[in-house]
Amino acid sequence: MVHCAASNPNAKAKDIQEWFLRSVAKGGRGWSKGGYAEIIEWNGTLVKLYDDEVPTNGVKAYKGVSNSNTLHICLVGGRTEGEISKEQKATLEKRLLEKVEKYPHAKLLGHNQVAVKACPNFDVRRYSKSIGIEDKNIFWEDYYEIATKMKQIIDTI
Ligand SMILES: [Zn+2]
Repeated sequence: MVHCAASNPNAKAKDIQEWFLRSVAKGGRGWSKGGYAEIIEWNGTLVKLYDDEVPTNGVKAYKGVSNSNTLHICLVGGRTEGEISKEQKATLEKRLLEKVEKYPHAKLLGHNQVAVKACPNFDVRRYSKSIGIEDKNIFWEDYYEIATKMKQIIDTI
């Protein structure tokens, strides 16, 4: 599942991770585990925080999609539709292709397909198609029609 941090593009993966783990009293979420297994920084650097088999806290379970069966990848930035750098796009493309090769039954999706959220602020289905992901590796449902309403940004990101 692809997410965005809806953060300043300068935010670092460690800042996002620390926020999940920081206590609520100190302004964090107070979780024992972060929201994402991997975070892609604005300059395209991939920061791997957890092994693939470790569930992270990226999604509220919905229609069979839950943290226990989902690997969460987050892009720094993403405050507005299509706020993603060229370098992030390159890293994401490489990473999604690698994941599908490693897990042939995986289905790629955006958080916005299973939650009332803009996250990751683009349509992961159209994006996945554009990088050559096969239909069988794309999760097509869009329960709240949020991804469907996202503008076509593939050409501009
Ligand atoms: Zn998300």
